[in-house]
Amino acid sequence: MNLWLDAPQLRFLNSNGTNEHDSEWYGDANSQDCDPDCSSECSECRLDDSFRSSISPASIAEGCESLRTHTFEQAKPLHIQPCTSEHWLVCHPTGSGQMAVVDEHVTSLLDRLRTPTTLHNLIAEHPAYLPGSVEQATMALYQLGFLNDLHSPPPLPAEQRNPTLTAWLHVTNACNLRCDYCYLHKNSERMADDTAYRAIDAIFRSAARQQFKRVKLKYAGGEASLQMNHVMAIHDYATRVAQERDISIGATLLSNGVFLSQEAINNLQARQIGVMISLDGVGTYHDRQRPFIGGRGSFKYVDRTITRLLNSGLIPSISVTVSQRNLDGLTDLITYILERDLPFTFNYYRDNACSEHLQDLQFGEAQMIAAMRAVFQVIEQRLPRRPLLGSLIDKANLNSPHRYTCGVGNNYLVIDQHGGVAKCQADIQRTITTIDADDPLQIVRDDRRGVQGFSVEDKEGCRSCQWRYWCAGGCPLLTYRATGRYDIKSPNCNIYRALFPNALHLEALRLLQYGSPITV
Ligand code: SF4
Ligand code: SF4
Repeated sequence: MNLWLDAPQLRFLNSNGTNEHDSEWYGDANSQDCDPDCSSECSECRLDDSFRSSISPASIAEGCESLRTHTFEQAKPLHIQPCTSEHWLVCHPTGSGQMAVVDEHVTSLLDRLRTPTTLHNLIAEHPAYLPGSVEQATMALYQLGFLNDLHSPPPLPAEQRNPTLTAWLHVTNACNLRCDYCYLHKNSERMADDTAYRAIDAIFRSAARQQFKRVKLKYAGGEASLQMNHVMAIHDYATRVAQERDISIGATLLSNGVFLSQEAINNLQARQIGVMISLDGVGTYHDRQRPFIGGRGSFKYVDRTITRLLNSGLIPSISVTVSQRNLDGLTDLITYILERDLPFTFNYYRDNACSEHLQDLQFGEAQMIAAMRAVFQVIEQRLPRRPLLGSLIDKANLNSPHRYTCGVGNNYLVIDQHGGVAKCQADIQRTITTIDADDPLQIVRDDRRGVQGFSVEDKEGCRSCQWRYWCAGGCPLLTYRATGRYDIKSPNCNIYRALFPNALHLEALRLLQYGSPITV
């Protein structure tokens, strides 16, 4: 009997039931650090309030022998889908959130466990297998959360606090590009030095007050790289404050990638600042939505920057904004990305006040589904080793169960160039306090006027969805703009639902190719 797991899962299974590898189960937050504007923040929050059924250290320590009289039953609802003629993907999206690929023997065991039975009976009913094999397979399925032990019911989902406070620093409102979907009214304003240092003080003041263990800074704009020296000085100051407060720090530069000098790259590397580059296509597909102020295309400059970063050993993450305009170029783009083995995320265009007059950006459901499936087919031919579970479906993240799409109103601060504090960068003009407040984050948390981050369990249409803890109901700002409500499912819901099985299929193939096989 064979199971294929991601390598961190295997280590966990071998860890005698302790939870010491929690962060590995949920994916290294750093691996997503370079995600696009809000997705980085969103993925961070995906760790927030996550839950899964835990393994009882006591039962594992007792060993399989003592569990033979325990009664096991398939966890419900388990999602099982074929991935090849001999393999099936199994996952429990509303429970543990874990995934594994299993062979026909394990599948038949799981099938039998649709109705409760003891391990003892299971062994007796499967004489073709060694008792030890049935025991170990059952234990592995149990540890993955695919089975319940009726003698010890799974614990209720536990609220887990995200240890990271994420802050967007709008270091400049200027940009050398004029992307059609940009939500900013740009001008030449930059964040003054004094404002920047007071912003850092405010962020860490809130972080300390609210007992965060880590602060993640996003240097953004506008085009933050237009103020590189400023960014470096801010980061050096933030590092000193972090040390004084005994809070760890991480940072990402969000950039259009038009120009990063070698010196800038060296400075970023020296400070371990990640880089996220926006890239929407190869050649004209990128140029169509991301031109310079004068209308000239920017692709060749971004391509040059990506090459320079890679040659320097700094791997950028690619943020792709998908609109109707670049749908047809996505297969070429994913080929470009996979050839360079770059981390990436696809983010669907969000209608906003600056771009609403452009009708050709808004995509149709069928168009988006077809285009993304075409992209997935390209990925299937060239599967990357890195997990794709947070990359493929807009704001959805299949890496771990979570209740909130993003950290809005909870663990996220957006600081504009004047020191105003907003809740979301896409709503940056709506500031609710300033960096002079004693605890800006508490004011953000208490605010009931602007964008509201509802739990997926409080969203109409989501409560019984099998994907709810991977999707969390989508971007609240987009939903509000489309429906006038925050407590309802995403306008992209049909797209998400259609694509989840396709994304799982890719993950199954990736596990088969790169995962850790267990033979019992
Ligand atoms: S938006 Fe749709 S796919 Fe997402 S949780 Fe709600 S119902 Fe499910
Ligand atoms: S409200 Fe939407 S745009 Fe703002 S941080 Fe959340 S997911 Fe991102």
